[in-house]
Amino acid sequence: MSFTLAIVGRPNVGKSTLFNRLVGKRLALVDDQPGVTRDLREGEARLGDLRFTVVDTAGLEEATDESLQGRMRKLTERAVGMADACLFMIDARAGVLAADEVFADILRKKSAHVILGANKSEGRAADAGFLEAYALGLGEPLRLSAEHGEGMAELHAVLAPLIEAAEARIDAEAAPEIDVDLSEDDDEDMEAPVRMPTAARPLQVAVVGRPNAGKSTLINQILGEDRLLTGPEAGITRDSISLSMDWQGTPVRLFDTAGMRKRAKVQDKLEKLSVSDGLRAVKFAEVVVVLLDAQIPFEAQDLKIADLAEREGRAVVIAVNKWDLETDRQDKLIALKEEFARLLPQLRGAPLVTVSALTGRGLDRLHDAVISAYMVWNRRVPTARLNRWLAGMLEMHPPPAPGGRRIKLRYMTQVKTRPPAFVVMASVPEKLPESYRRYLVNGLREDFEMPGTPIRLTFRGQG
Ligand code: GDP
Ligand code: GDP
Repeated sequence: MSFTLAIVGRPNVGKSTLFNRLVGKRLALVDDQPGVTRDLREGEARLGDLRFTVVDTAGLEEATDESLQGRMRKLTERAVGMADACLFMIDARAGVLAADEVFADILRKKSAHVILGANKSEGRAADAGFLEAYALGLGEPLRLSAEHGEGMAELHAVLAPLIEAAEARIDAEAAPEIDVDLSEDDDEDMEAPVRMPTAARPLQVAVVGRPNAGKSTLINQILGEDRLLTGPEAGITRDSISLSMDWQGTPVRLFDTAGMRKRAKVQDKLEKLSVSDGLRAVKFAEVVVVLLDAQIPFEAQDLKIADLAEREGRAVVIAVNKWDLETDRQDKLIALKEEFARLLPQLRGAPLVTVSALTGRGLDRLHDAVISAYMVWNRRVPTARLNRWLAGMLEMHPPPAPGGRRIKLRYMTQVKTRPPAFVVMASVPEKLPESYRRYLVNGLREDFEMPGTPIRLTFRGQG
């Protein structure tokens, strides 16, 4: 989950220019699909050795009427809400305007870290405006010229410690407890609650699937449900690789492979491109939605990407699209489930939902499946419960006894979540057959209700 910087400020101060400078042409590609309205634009920024996500409210036109101002305000608040820090830009040549004060107010209330950037600072014409910027009470302004690339080293100097601190925080949260603690400190049977996605840390979802599976249609349908800014005055194009939204109340960041692929005009490049897009999407995502075309499900490419998602340890939801075209749904569903079990045994128990991206049917269920997959992926089972369970499993089906000495499994603990990972201490771990590991993994899946998430289980010796 990367550090997110929001660029905010009134129209025309140079936000897009800076966004494009940070993100570069490689990601700020323009989608030629008309009629898609976007509210926030995101990209992966590079600044020297720093890598972070940048969010921009670019494309907003000068706010003339009341309602547009209100929405700009809302949009800015949302951008601020999802960011770790904000770069508030003013136009130093124009000086501080009343509209700038409005943004400054929002930022003082809402943002933890505000970086004030006085843009268009190349040359003397900006001197007066630069001094005025101090009066905003947001600290020392940075002298920037987005157009000429000036002030980037100063921006780097301010951002580097913030990013470092944020990454240290995330590492601490996600750090696996590698050392197995034998003291059983959590012998209560309470599970830690899963941290739900928030605006600042939205749930990262990727929709992957072969060309024509309906990814664009699905994403547009989801965007359509909860679009913050609508109407012609927004005029924002869908031109970045991830889209932020509230999906039925869940803050979600959606990785847009479809939009990316659509930009590849050359037909014979399509296949290759969509595979590498899929790869990037899987790396990005916490939950991967594998979108299948009900008419031609489980093609080689679908299997490849689903397998990749599993190997990368992502939560997976299978969505079967174009269900509106099916006539014999009952039989088809049975056949699909059978195929799924046969072709993707590694994803045993992953939710399979039928949808129609075109009509929007089934999207509620898809939303719920994504959330529950995320919950399961985050699950932590208390050690005491695990060890009681292990005792039962051992009794039911003892480990083998190569050379007459039964392998002992002494202790088990969950060392990590996202996906759940377990370690079992064993007397001779190298002699345990794969079938025994599978027995335990499948048991965990069923007894602790962890369908559809990759489960890692390793055996360790005690020496
Ligand atoms: P946004 O509406 O805040 O996204 O602003 P834009 O990035 O679209 O920039 C508005 C105008 O200011 C454009 O004409 C840019 O070329 C110009 N601009 C952006 N940055 C600079 C700068 O550093 N110096 C000067 N002189 N002009 C700039
Ligand atoms: P992508 O390549 O995965 O982004 O697929 P598109 O979203 O471009 O869809 C490919 C084609 O399938 C288009 O002609 C869509 O209209 C159609 N399509 C997408 N979803 C559905 C659906 O749920 N039902 C039907 N009948 N057609 C769909």
